[in-house]
Amino acid sequence: TPTSRIDKLLSSMGYGTRKEMARLARAHRISLDGAAMPDATKRIPVTPDLSRRMVIDGAPLDPIPGMVILLNKPSGMICSRKEHGALVHDLLPERWKRREPPISTIGRLDKQTSGLLLLTDDGELLHRVTSPRRNVKKTYRARLARPLTGREGSLFASGDLMLKGEDRPLAPAELEMISEREARLSITEGRYHQVRRMFAAAGNHVEQLHRECVGGLSLPEDMAPGQWKLLSEREIARIF
Ligand code: URA
Repeated sequence: TPTSRIDKLLSSMGYGTRKEMARLARAHRISLDGAAMPDATKRIPVTPDLSRRMVIDGAPLDPIPGMVILLNKPSGMICSRKEHGALVHDLLPERWKRREPPISTIGRLDKQTSGLLLLTDDGELLHRVTSPRRNVKKTYRARLARPLTGREGSLFASGDLMLKGEDRPLAPAELEMISEREARLSITEGRYHQVRRMFAAAGNHVEQLHRECVGGLSLPEDMAPGQWKLLSEREIARIF
């Protein structure tokens, strides 16, 4: 088990500077297993159960590094930490913006796209999910400007659809017609504006786009836009 000084751990989790953590500890505002920890330089084992056992100012410790967040992204929010405007990171606790390692989105959804978005502070997991060789399946529901012609399915499944400005055809994708102007599309790649550009290549236009699934994970029915939850180990395993 890795160990860490309390001040260093809390500081990396966005609670404040090490000096501030020393002051907090001295004031008996940090406790472990019910006992005050007055010395913030003390080393402790860093295990997931710390977020139950450690209490800061009366509140349980945030999750230790190594978390995966599932969020229902509202349309209109941006998947970036640096840009201006409404950011998906603003939906998480303020302190989490200062966490080290930082929390990044696993892949991105366009500003206008809604639905299942994953975020993590685990660089290795981030890499595994977004690796082009991994082929994690992503399923979208698209609302279209014009009626489907019935030819989109074979075009997308062909494996030789070439998007404008690219030199490599798209991998086969699966289309399911839901209604005249609504379809479900599963893709394994994540090229720039891929779903919108695929329907554009088919002579249509995406008016609304919503991601329903990533790998074996789907967005819970009862999760409102802007809501999020931490994933369990079992749920994380379902991504692949
Ligand atoms: N394809 C798009 O066009 N937009 C997204 O946000 C995701 C996939």
